[in-house]
Amino acid sequence: MTGRAGGRRATPQEIGARMKGERRVLLAVHENPDGDALGSIVAAGLVMEQLGVAWTGFVPGREPFPPELTWLPRLGDLVRGELPEAGDATLYTLDCASAARFGGEGVGAQFWVNIDHHPDNPLYGDFNLVDAGASSTTQILHGVLRAADLPLNAEIGTCLYVGVVTDTGRFQFSNTTPQAHRMAADLQDLGVDVHEVYRHVYENVPIAKVRLNRRAFENLRLLLDGRLAVSVLSVKDFRETGAEPGYTEGVIDGIRTIAGVRVAALVRERLTPTGTPELRVSLRSTDGKIDVSDIAHTWGGGGHVRAAGYTFHGRTEEGIAQLEREVAARQ
Ligand code: AMP
Ligand code: MN
Ligand code: MN
Repeated sequence: MTGRAGGRRATPQEIGARMKGERRVLLAVHENPDGDALGSIVAAGLVMEQLGVAWTGFVPGREPFPPELTWLPRLGDLVRGELPEAGDATLYTLDCASAARFGGEGVGAQFWVNIDHHPDNPLYGDFNLVDAGASSTTQILHGVLRAADLPLNAEIGTCLYVGVVTDTGRFQFSNTTPQAHRMAADLQDLGVDVHEVYRHVYENVPIAKVRLNRRAFENLRLLLDGRLAVSVLSVKDFRETGAEPGYTEGVIDGIRTIAGVRVAALVRERLTPTGTPELRVSLRSTDGKIDVSDIAHTWGGGGHVRAAGYTFHGRTEEGIAQLEREVAARQ
C-alpha cells in the first residue's frame, strides 16, 4: 500500500497543535486490540475530552477485550464492529501498521493522522508520525503531549503506561529504550501507580486463561531441532477451558522462554462464519536474528522484526508445515 497523495511526516509539535484546533475526531486502533492499542485510544480520547474536542473511538471486531485490560476507563464508550462515518471529523489511527488493520480501506476522512511505531507502516495518513524506534504507540503519544503542552494527568498517564509496560514485556524486551524508562518515570511523577497497574494487568488472570495457558504448553511442538516452538490452540481448547479469544494475549510469552527457541509461534484455530478453517498466527523472534515480520508478510500480515502476526486461510497442519519451511529458509 502506498501513502496518501500529499501526505507527509509531521512532528510531534505539529500533531499536538492540530489536536488543539480540532472540533471533532474519530480515533481508531487495530483489531484484537492489545494494551498499546487500548491504552492509546483511551488516552487520546481523554486528552480530547480535556481539550473540549468531541471524540468517537472505534475498535474493529466484536470480541470482548482482553480481561486484563477491561479496567481501563471509557472502554464502554468505544464503538465496535463497523467503522463509523468520519464526516467532518479528523481521523486519528493509532498503533495501526496499515488501513486494513482497522478495517479502514477506502475510508473517506477529510484529514487523516497516522501515529504508529510499526516499521512497515507505509505512511498512509495526511500527517504521519511513525517512529519504529519507539517502544509503543503510547510512547509516541506521550511525546506529542509533552512537546505541545497538552493535558496530561494521572488517568491519562495510566493509559499511556499500560501501552509501554505491555509492549515492552514489562521493560524487558529489546525495545526497552532509555526513553521508555524516562516516560515511565515522568508518568510516575504524575501519580501513576505502577504497582496498581501490575495488579490489574498481571495478577488478575481468569482461571480459564490459566487453563488455556496450560493447554498451550501441553500442545507445544518443538521443530527444527528446537529452534521453532509452535503451540496450537484449537477451537476445542477454547471450548473446554471456557476461554474467550481475547484470553490469548501474552500466552506466547511462555513459549518464547524455552531455551534454544529462536522463533516462537502461537497458532489459534478459528472457524469462520462460513465454516472454513482459519489460523491466527502470532510470531516472536527471541534473538532478533530472524525477522518474523518478513515471514508474516508472506501471508499478508505484518508487525515488527521481533513480534509479528498473520492470518492463514487453511488447515492447521498445512499452516504449520508452511511456517516451518519459511523459518527454515531464514536460518
Ligand atoms: P500479536 O502477535 O497479535 O501480539 O501481534 C504482534 C505484532 O504483529 C503487533 O505489532 C501486531 O500489530 C502485528 N500483527 C499481528 N497480526 C497482524 C496481522 N494480521 N497483520 C499485520 N500485523 C499484525
Ligand atoms: Mn498493538
Ligand atoms: Mn504497539
